[in-house]
Amino acid sequence: MKSYKCLHCENMIKDEYIRKKIRCPYCGAKILYKTRTATTEVKAV
Ligand SMILES: [Zn+2]
Repeated sequence: MKSYKCLHCENMIKDEYIRKKIRCPYCGAKILYKTRTATTEVKAV
């Protein structure tokens, strides 16, 4: 699952928003960066 983060307001932006328009739905900034799910995403099975 990909997710983006706004460089301006630091809100997390879902991938579905980016499909329509590359823009932050919160503040309208156009500078987003991808956040990798490196932050310990542990799924216990
Ligand atoms: Zn923003």
